[in-house]
Amino acid sequence: MSQSQTQVFDAVIVGAGISGAMIAWQLGLKGKRVLIMEAGDPLPPNVNDYMQRFYLATAKVPEIPYTPALMDSTGLVDPGTMNAPRPTVLTLGDNWKDPKQAYLDQVGKLPFASTYERVSGGTMRHWLGTSLRFVPHDFTMKTTYGRLVDWPIGYNELERWYGDAEHAIGVSANKADQAYHGIAFPPDYNYPMPQIPLSLVDQAVAAKVDGMELDGEALTVTSTPAGRNSQPYDNRRVCAGNTNCIPICPIQAKYDPSVTLNKALDTGNVVIWGNTVASNVAVDGTGQVRQIDYIQYATAGGPATARGCVTAKVFILAAHAIETPKLLLMSKNEGRTPNGVANSSDLVGRNLMDHPIYLAWAQMPQPVFGYRGPLSTAGIETLRDGIFRKDRAAFRIEIGNEGWNFPIGDPYTTVMDLINGGNVSRLNPGGKALSGQALTSAMNAALSRQFRLGFLVEQSPEPGNRVTLSDRVDHLGLPRPRVTYDISDYTKQGFVAAKRAADAIFAKLGAKQFTAVAPGPAQFTFEGETFGYFGAGHIVGTYRMGGNKTDSVVDANQRSWDHPNLYLVGSGTFPTVATGNPTLTIAALALRTADAILASGL
Ligand SMILES: Cc1cc2nc3c(=O)[nH]c(=O)nc-3n(C[C@H](O)[C@H](O)[C@H](O)COP(=O)(O)OP(=O)(O)OC[C@H]3O[C@@H](n4cnc5c(N)ncnc54)[C@H](O)[C@@H]3O)c2cc1C
Ligand code: SF4
Repeated sequence: MSQSQTQVFDAVIVGAGISGAMIAWQLGLKGKRVLIMEAGDPLPPNVNDYMQRFYLATAKVPEIPYTPALMDSTGLVDPGTMNAPRPTVLTLGDNWKDPKQAYLDQVGKLPFASTYERVSGGTMRHWLGTSLRFVPHDFTMKTTYGRLVDWPIGYNELERWYGDAEHAIGVSANKADQAYHGIAFPPDYNYPMPQIPLSLVDQAVAAKVDGMELDGEALTVTSTPAGRNSQPYDNRRVCAGNTNCIPICPIQAKYDPSVTLNKALDTGNVVIWGNTVASNVAVDGTGQVRQIDYIQYATAGGPATARGCVTAKVFILAAHAIETPKLLLMSKNEGRTPNGVANSSDLVGRNLMDHPIYLAWAQMPQPVFGYRGPLSTAGIETLRDGIFRKDRAAFRIEIGNEGWNFPIGDPYTTVMDLINGGNVSRLNPGGKALSGQALTSAMNAALSRQFRLGFLVEQSPEPGNRVTLSDRVDHLGLPRPRVTYDISDYTKQGFVAAKRAADAIFAKLGAKQFTAVAPGPAQFTFEGETFGYFGAGHIVGTYRMGGNKTDSVVDANQRSWDHPNLYLVGSGTFPTVATGNPTLTIAALALRTADAILASGL
């Protein structure tokens, strides 16, 4: 007998990431019976297995601690043999179109370079923790600058839920630092914890860069709001500062959705089914969603063990911005929804966005001692907004605290160069092979002066950048996502400005620049210059919210225009990617949607 025949639910949620977890928790607190279906493994009791996989892995990439295992003794596991495969940064090289290595069927001009997880707790297990609010003009780009598109909701309407989300996540921040570009707080509001202290790298950058003029603005280094504990909070420990936030915080000082999932379970009204892949959204003749069909499995590459369906009053898809549109597009309902569920606008799957990152790295003239503290503790937010947005993409600048780990995989790369006489890092031009005290001195000299800047560029929404269904399938026989991706001239102009900013900042610091374009497909040439880019993990925009059913898929409450008892949540509803990392806004919108669901009489 399938589980669906024995239990009755008020709400069914697909996906156990932060967006699903927040809504389940809120509904559970109000006595609603909630099922979360999760494609990945069930919620583990602790992070020990993740840590073991991380320790043993040679490629310590963001996805490596999590399940299903990315690699076996022969290399990358064929995604076609897995029941819940996902993309990995290990398939962004020449193998980006190889169906036996890459889960996504990429058919665009450029690779979509961000990844996600299929495991309870979702992609956020390997997030950095950056929890910025969007600036007010992020919501009004069309009205203010005549570019991109407006949101149907503004900063002031969302403000209350930003505060709730900051307390639910546990954000450490300094309110005064965050009051820029029109971001305002109620007078009696305080973040739950004080800011994480600035790193030594941040202090060295601020000493020279604060007040520097660029594009008509005076730059300022500001502390970054972080979903990690600066004090004991919510029964979790204080950050120990050992720079391992991506891919995993060993002590859970950094928030991840298991915190909220456990609170949801504690209400006694929420259950989570792991290893349960939603495979169809069934709509009846009146336009109501009646049930969600699912397939269950016991092991990552084993056979399906059960198929069933669950009914409820309300359905919430929280499977993130690639799997949610895939599920909607798969659900044809014997021709009643020929373009997929919730898709009368033909916008499901369209306007896929990211914050493509321009990464620039340099060596300071003096030691700045990265690798102490979290991966990033400050940024330059000055260029997130300005009149220049009429002509080019804005960006925020993240100051890295992990040397050249992001661009070249340090400290390992430089250390291997110094031991073996190589020069991959370009820090050992003489090709010396060192040992003993000479090696230690060379390592100290090289590693203590490294730092990098990450420019998170606001990508414009383009309907042609989209998720559709591939004819390639996973092990359950479900279609894999086909992704078409490119970068517009508006966004590329943001890269030009980012490079100009990096050059000016490094010059001001007296730093020697080492920025280079990594080999591989994630690069483009624009106005005579070749730029490499990285994915930020910010997957946005494939079922946008808007003011009516022809220009959007959901309304400002993230409710489907086509199906009144269906909610689509997560960053897929963002009409623009905006200039901050998305998850705080995802959480704020999820909490607001939970209130809307409860107010609708569930
Ligand atoms: C390396 C990295 C660093 C990041 N750092 C930051 C940061 O510092 N700040 C920030 O704001 N954001 C960051 N992000 C982005 C952040 O992780 C995401 O915004 C967030 O995880 C999205 O949450 P979600 O709940 O919408 O989706 P997810 O976390 O992806 O959860 C979706 C869940 O749905 C499940 N699912 C999918 N399909 C199905 C199906 N058919 N049936 C059942 N279940 C299904 C998946 O298994 C998954 O568990 C980062 C991302 C990456 C990759
Ligand atoms: S620095 Fe270490 S303890 Fe702090 S959040 Fe990152 S991984 Fe966790």
